[in-house]
Amino acid sequence: MTRIHQVQTPDQSITGLKGVGDKVKEKLFSIGIEGVNDVLFHLPSSYTDQSVVNLNEAIDGANITVEGTVKTEPQLAFFRKGKSRLTFFMDADGIYVKVTFFNQPYLKSKIINGEFVRLFGKFNRNKLEINGSKLIFEASGGMSVKYPLGGVIQSKTFQKIVRSAFDTAIFNLDLPQHLKAKYKLMAVRDALFELHFPTSQVMTDQARRTIKFFELYNFQLKIMDKRQKERVRSERFIVDYNIDELKQFIETLPFELTGDQKRSVNDICRDFKQNISMHRLLQGDVGSGKTIVAGIAVYAVKTIGEQSAVMVPTEVLANQHYQSFKDTFGDKLVIEKLTGTTKPREKREILDRLSSGEIDLLVGTHAIFEDDVVFDRLSFTIIDEQHRFGVRQRQRLNDKAYRKNVLYMTATPIPRTLSITAYGDMDVSLIREMPAGRLPITTEWRRFNELDQVLSSVKNEIDKGHSAYIVAPLIEESETLDLKNVYEIYSIFEDYFGHEDVVLVHGRMKPEEKNDAMKAFESLNKKLLVSTTVIEVGINVPNATSIVIFNAERFGLSTLHQLRGRVGRNNKQSACILVSDAATDNAKLRMEIMTSTTDGFILSERDLEMRGPGDYFGVRQSGLPQFKVADITEDYRILEVAREEAAKAYLQDQF
Ligand code: ADP
Ligand code: MG
Repeated sequence: MTRIHQVQTPDQSITGLKGVGDKVKEKLFSIGIEGVNDVLFHLPSSYTDQSVVNLNEAIDGANITVEGTVKTEPQLAFFRKGKSRLTFFMDADGIYVKVTFFNQPYLKSKIINGEFVRLFGKFNRNKLEINGSKLIFEASGGMSVKYPLGGVIQSKTFQKIVRSAFDTAIFNLDLPQHLKAKYKLMAVRDALFELHFPTSQVMTDQARRTIKFFELYNFQLKIMDKRQKERVRSERFIVDYNIDELKQFIETLPFELTGDQKRSVNDICRDFKQNISMHRLLQGDVGSGKTIVAGIAVYAVKTIGEQSAVMVPTEVLANQHYQSFKDTFGDKLVIEKLTGTTKPREKREILDRLSSGEIDLLVGTHAIFEDDVVFDRLSFTIIDEQHRFGVRQRQRLNDKAYRKNVLYMTATPIPRTLSITAYGDMDVSLIREMPAGRLPITTEWRRFNELDQVLSSVKNEIDKGHSAYIVAPLIEESETLDLKNVYEIYSIFEDYFGHEDVVLVHGRMKPEEKNDAMKAFESLNKKLLVSTTVIEVGINVPNATSIVIFNAERFGLSTLHQLRGRVGRNNKQSACILVSDAATDNAKLRMEIMTSTTDGFILSERDLEMRGPGDYFGVRQSGLPQFKVADITEDYRILEVAREEAAKAYLQDQF
């Protein structure tokens, strides 16, 4: 795979570089540096400007080197735990400035009233103070760098290797001339050189901007290439559905579609009529009405006598999707389900009806990939984006398809910033609006000492005949952390509501036990389900109107949001109670964000801000490119510009 941060192709091993013997090579390998490109892009983590600055021109807050004359006797004061403060005044460029060195008492003898001094420190322009970090005896001039090397070799040693890399490398990749001119960017080689061998703050800033642009621009070009490959053009991909029949069908639906649903239906229908294979993502929170949108598309395909499939990763989800398609379209579409547990006899019958074209929609797991599953004409595939399928599985699906049209569905809202990067190769339809009449879930944050109020709120709901979820920490966790474990929580609720009403589910139970417990809750035999987060995998009990999440601080915003989405699935008012003695700022902030919004997109933006993209995607999915310099949240503007320019360039090359 080609990497985004590369400037010489083919890449060469670092073996040929000066200063790289077997030992050094091994050390560099251990921190992931294998080729010359890796060396060139292994950039310093910090810069120190050692050239002397005129204090009159120094920026407030900058770390600078200044020189001048010591004007007072240095005063040394010791305080607690061996800490010390050394202060004196100096005259630098006509400014009388106070200098303080913390915890370097030995410098006292080096500072002599009336004599020359040169030092490095942080300048506070308002107070006219410098917080000194070191005295400089020998004016080296320029900037020095420090590399992140995990302690395996010295920065100075590495810089020599970098030098040799520049001498050997053939730079055969750069930004187009017109972009360099338009955005005041440097040549990529020069920018990299500046970042390794800095000459000034201004230049390194420009160099950094150049490399960010370079990374993001190349990334966008790659995505566009991928996008183009997905969009094979052929008359074959046209689903020339019957619009009158489709309109009639939409009229039979028991409700008016929301604006976002209409737009999404239009997007999909437009794709159908084009001679390009569909590769679209339908994004919308739980309950936003994606199933209806997908179902309408399935119906469109049916109007020309062709078939659709819904692929999901698990049996539970297959059941859920099957049920919700059945509930909504039961008498208008022929829908079947195929999973690993479908009985052989039933399976044979389904396969027969599938190959004869009688079935309109097949919902299933990986079982659909098997060779004996033959469609009459599969022209539309919906993939539930809990995970993306691998290349080979995609290929198998394509092999089965008569017309290659794929719609991905996800209930995980992704911030706009990330969706460009993560889903840049797809068209995206968004459903932000919830169906009319839906009551937003209320969310409150309670402390453990307010348990009584929590219990009585839940009781209120149970008394009305509603169900409630109680989420408790895992058993394992409770052994080391200060958490109420699932058994304690269970017994609190059991005491309060009586044994008859409460059922317990946790990860250490046998699958059958778990199943029985879940069934008891789903069938409304038991009104309270105390569980660890196992309920996340997909349970649908519209009768539930409350969810209590104990030690809510353990969860990130996205998990809390997913958990909260278990309730609010009917027309009744639902409530989410977060029970937490959250102590850290981060945890408190999460609780506050949760109580302030139910909009999954806003939450995802806040989540991203709090966690940063690497972390955010670590949990969500892999496959996000690792940029060396660019940061997709901070450099969003550069990303957008790079994307526009890449799109232009791509179009010019291609057409
Ligand atoms: P999702 O698949 O996005 O989680 P669903 O498609 O299952 O959401 O819809 C959730 C519920 O809302 C379903 O009961 C569905 O019938 C209902 N629904 C969907 N769209 C509308 C609408 N426009 N107006 C009223 N109810 C709707
Ligand atoms: Mg659904």
